Amino acid sequence: MKITDIISHVLQYDLPEELGYSQQYYSKRTAHLVEVRTDEGLTGWGECFGPGNIALANKVIVEKVIQPMVIGRDPVDREVIWHHVYNLLRDHGQKGMPLQALSGVDIALWDLTGKIAGLPLCKLAGGRFRERVPVYGYGMMLQREDAASHIARFRDEAAAIRAAGFVATKMKVGLGVADDIRLAEAVRLGVGDDFPFMVDANHCYTADDALEVGAALDEMNAYWFEEPAAPEDLDGYRRLRARLKTRISGGEAEFTRWGWRHILEGECVDIAQPEVCALGGVSEYLKVLALAHTHFTPVVNHVWGSAIAVATNLHLLAAMPPLPGGLFPREPWLEFDTTNNMFRDELLLEPLDIQGQVARTGSAGIPDGPGLGVEPDRDFIARNAVS
Ligand code: CA
Repeated sequence: MKITDIISHVLQYDLPEELGYSQQYYSKRTAHLVEVRTDEGLTGWGECFGPGNIALANKVIVEKVIQPMVIGRDPVDREVIWHHVYNLLRDHGQKGMPLQALSGVDIALWDLTGKIAGLPLCKLAGGRFRERVPVYGYGMMLQREDAASHIARFRDEAAAIRAAGFVATKMKVGLGVADDIRLAEAVRLGVGDDFPFMVDANHCYTADDALEVGAALDEMNAYWFEEPAAPEDLDGYRRLRARLKTRISGGEAEFTRWGWRHILEGECVDIAQPEVCALGGVSEYLKVLALAHTHFTPVVNHVWGSAIAVATNLHLLAAMPPLPGGLFPREPWLEFDTTNNMFRDELLLEPLDIQGQVARTGSAGIPDGPGLGVEPDRDFIARNAVS
């Protein structure tokens, strides 16, 4: 079997309300799907991390740069293709958009390989350690309103996420140290003392400011403090991790085994959050997972994007070995964005219905079919494509 075409579909729609995090407000939802076609009619699907105009730039890399390197190759040869592409891109970017683009292609090759073998991705990755994955719900985004309005809204939203069945919740911060501490207190009040909550700073603090917020989070028994400082500031991460009780998490902005090596060898995080749609795809994710577990660092995947990304992550979370193992090990969680996302909820011919599953069980099942086990609706793609 030979690869004949690689096509990027960039989808976009206007959100019903503007959403924000510590770096910006945004009013459009974007998804970047990658379709790999073969001469025998089989098609594989993947997804690239990267919103808005980043997706348009990544589309050019996928179609104009990577596609010519890969046409004519056997889609099962994932490692050979990955290394061929990476070696040719290495001089032009070992992180960032070239790797995001390669990720979407690599995921599609795993989908294709599963379809050729008649096996789901989790089986190709070694099998299922679990039939269902507990789901945590993140929300509590920033909006253009004052701190008092944020506080009231965050308290109510935190309570609603718990009531919806999620096993934990995660909030944004970014208003400034003092207001952020008040926001976290509101979330703790909203969920009660017996429910895990996490705080995502999207790298808006200096390490010193993060220490101040983190000390307050220690008092509130927060479960983790995500991207407290700039991803380049590994010394800051190491200092935070040594000084705080709250677990330090991060890594969604890191790429490949070589990037992760520095985070893990530097003992910078308590919890690793690799993003499979950015760091290099499934092929590279499995190496980063092995590297993290080599350091006995638990992994909770970063998940963002459409139903393709969610399905990919469900397989990877099912196939993740327990760390270190035992009768009742702590299970990995699926990250789930509780804000409006039509590309997750309406893209598939048979939707995953994560929200419905969570309401019943607090967890999500693994798609059964070969490859990713999901089929996008081509009419839906055509209706929402902007490029
Ligand atoms: Ca994050």
